[in-house]
Amino acid sequence: MIELKTPGEIARMRVTGRFVAEVLAEVGRIADVGVNLLELEHHVRGLISRRGAESCYWDYAPSFGEGPFRNVICLSVNDAVLHGLPHDYTLRDGDVLSADLAVGIDGWVADAARTFVVGTPAEEDLRLVHATEQALAAAIDAARPGNRLGDVSAAIGAVAREHGYPVNTEFGGHGIGRTMHEDPHVPNTGRAGRGLELRPGLTLALEPWFARTTGRIVYDPDGWTIRSADGSRTAHSEHTVAITEGEALVLTRGEDEPE
Ligand code: MG
Repeated sequence: MIELKTPGEIARMRVTGRFVAEVLAEVGRIADVGVNLLELEHHVRGLISRRGAESCYWDYAPSFGEGPFRNVICLSVNDAVLHGLPHDYTLRDGDVLSADLAVGIDGWVADAARTFVVGTPAEEDLRLVHATEQALAAAIDAARPGNRLGDVSAAIGAVAREHGYPVNTEFGGHGIGRTMHEDPHVPNTGRAGRGLELRPGLTLALEPWFARTTGRIVYDPDGWTIRSADGSRTAHSEHTVAITEGEALVLTRGEDEPE
């Protein structure tokens, strides 16, 4: 079922979204060569608890995971791209770190992800990260009334093709609001003009992610961490947005970032 949100409800999601943006920005500031993923996890736990927010990941137990998730942030390094389980790993020069965070405040959820390159970036990694950001911007631009869900998916797929990155369609964006995952599913490629008609009040988490040379994925034995099947590096960019009468409102931008 797809639930359209009122302007008041979207305003409450914006409050959560600002917090998510601040936390991810802080992760980006702290993540550096020599920093352990567990330090990042514990730092974010402190931020969430001080804000009185609720982690959407803690105890998350979908069919594919091995036992409930007992962390508050997904940290995926290099060939890991989604659901990266924070573990005892110290970041090295040139590592690509994706951080994905979903929390609720007063019952309203926001979800966003950013990818950072630690230390000295390789040119090809920057290109990959930039492509996911560009795809996200294109998806947001397509997320407006009069368009359909397929237009959003097609916008992401077009940027991937332009850069020569294959697209995986098993994991993509999703509806969001009172819970982290609501209908509809938003594939990262698709046919323009097809699918659900976009209407004001629809709130979506849009999340292009690409691996450099494959659209296939493999799971770690923990059942959580998802990696590119060929070990190539990956990147992931995500925002929670609300469809309005005009341009989509990005709910997971920081207070000082342009709307
Ligand atoms: Mg997310």
